[in-house]
Amino acid sequence: MRDCSSKKIGYSSESSAISALLEAHQKSNFEINNGPQNIYRCSICDQYHLTSKKPSHAILKQNSTIANETIKNDIQRWTNKFKNFKR
Ligand SMILES: [Zn+2]
Repeated sequence: MRDCSSKKIGYSSESSAISALLEAHQKSNFEINNGPQNIYRCSICDQYHLTSKKPSHAILKQNSTIANETIKNDIQRWTNKFKNFKR
């Protein structure tokens, strides 16, 4: 992998940059406004980088909608469990 003067991590393909983007959002609990928002092709190193600038990548919006629903359900389930523990 070539070094880039932007000091960002370079991804050799668009698909690996997208999976890195999704991974970053999994780590930030799918908060759509947290972390990198999109990928772009770098003119310096000719690799793909992540960027925190909007607009968000379409895949992120899809992914976070599904993920947020799942997390909400999870939180609801745990909240109910804790209620039961206290009694
Ligand atoms: Zn670059």
